[in-house]
Amino acid sequence: MEFKFGGSSTNQKTVLGHPSGLFVLFFTEMWERFSYYGMRALLVLFLVSSIMDEGWGWERADALVLYGWYTGLVYITPIIGGFIADKFVGYRRAVVLGAFIMTLGHASMALEGFTPIFFYVGLTFLIIGNGLFKPNISSMVGQLYKTQGKEKDAGYTIFYMGINSGAFLGILLCGYIGENIGWHYGFGLAGVFMFLGMLQFYFTQSIFGKIGLSPKQIEDFDDVVEDGIEKIGDNIEDVIEEAESSIVVKDRLIVIGIFSLFVVFFWWAFEQAGGSMTVFAADYTDRALVGNAALTFKIVNTIITVVPMLVITWVLVLLFRKTFSKFALANTFLGISFIIIWGIVIWMLKREFKMDATEVPASWFSVLNSLFIILFAPLFSKIWQSKYNPSGPMKFAIGLLLVGLGFAALAYGSASIPDGAKTASVSLMFLVIAYYLHTMGELCVSPVGLSYVSKLAPMKLVGLMFGVWFTANFIANLLGGITGSYIDPISEEYGLSTFFLIFTIIPIVAAIIMMLLNPMMKRKMHGVR
Ligand code: GLN
Repeated sequence: MEFKFGGSSTNQKTVLGHPSGLFVLFFTEMWERFSYYGMRALLVLFLVSSIMDEGWGWERADALVLYGWYTGLVYITPIIGGFIADKFVGYRRAVVLGAFIMTLGHASMALEGFTPIFFYVGLTFLIIGNGLFKPNISSMVGQLYKTQGKEKDAGYTIFYMGINSGAFLGILLCGYIGENIGWHYGFGLAGVFMFLGMLQFYFTQSIFGKIGLSPKQIEDFDDVVEDGIEKIGDNIEDVIEEAESSIVVKDRLIVIGIFSLFVVFFWWAFEQAGGSMTVFAADYTDRALVGNAALTFKIVNTIITVVPMLVITWVLVLLFRKTFSKFALANTFLGISFIIIWGIVIWMLKREFKMDATEVPASWFSVLNSLFIILFAPLFSKIWQSKYNPSGPMKFAIGLLLVGLGFAALAYGSASIPDGAKTASVSLMFLVIAYYLHTMGELCVSPVGLSYVSKLAPMKLVGLMFGVWFTANFIANLLGGITGSYIDPISEEYGLSTFFLIFTIIPIVAAIIMMLLNPMMKRKMHGVR
């Protein structure tokens, strides 16, 4: 019998209509992103907080430049990691190795108190580990599906929700613990979940069958497994692939290139989130809440924490039901991670309710991004499946437009701040609106981009092409960090509003150009939708 999805027979058992392996990747990616975003939320705040507060007392500009380099470099290594996996070790081993190296990285950062060198060693490990992990787990998602249609898009959207469930919890919990209890605990917490996620993946690997093995392992696998039908299936794919003329392949690679180029403008603006937008949140907004406002915030915070937790726990149970008998150990690790996380969530919420006044943590706003993704991703995926589905390039243009509009809200909100002011108390609403628009933009660009890379890249270059896609983030994050570091001089000279206007205008111009390129792009995709 021919399998509907790639991978082993267990992978054919579905969860929410998708192969169960998708949810193995979902949880692995979730814990990895928990660590990445949890640590990242603390990075700038830690560096700029005074030595008395156990920070390093850095200048804002220096912290934002380091932030730019870090968030840039984590996205340059995927091109190497993708290549290594395509050619030599396979996606699976690359994912495990990457996760292990990142675990060491987090551990090292948690020990920064002993010597500052540990901090830099930790960052280096995270950069290397992410290169092995990120492109390769992303390409495994696509390989679960045998067709290139809407199912794959939906798969990537679910995966993207996994990314953001992790980001959400990571920023919320590592941010809270880092800011309130101690930086080292925040960094350490990130590492614990990275490790548990790795174990979970390691012990479930066989669910993927041949998917993600190295080229050499695949040869051996084919010798051992007498799965004639699967082989015939593969042969047909090979024939089809060879039949695709080299022009088609070339054109599609060009399209990946153009998408990767334009996404630079998007992330350059969007990624101000952890940098200048966090500075704005920390120093220019009114975050101190008392009385009813404090109570309302606590209730909202409880709901937005508990509801997503319940949803992902429910997904966990669905996965357990399909895979526990076969993968008891892996599922146990996953179960332990959930017990710990529930413990921390309940502890945090209880602790918060005991306090009278509340200060919204500066790192809190970036959780809105992940929260909005989790809430709106299903809606977007429905729109993409309906007759209102815009073409890929149009989605990119809309995304760029939205990110520009988000910054317009910030520019408007900060118009009242005098030039060069070091602090202010602007309403929190502007940040909320900006994050909302940015997230809607992200949904038009990021999961869509992943799916297009997976569809447009020739089979043997998938890992490498994901590397190219992520390289856009390298350029964007580095330039974004550097641009963000000028927040002080620009707002002294021209006002904070002008600073945000830069991020309004450039993405909107890019959006217009993308719209003009739409017909040409559609042609060059040769039928891929
Ligand atoms: N938020 C997504 C992730 O972490 C996209 C990040 C990016 O490509 N810049 O995977």
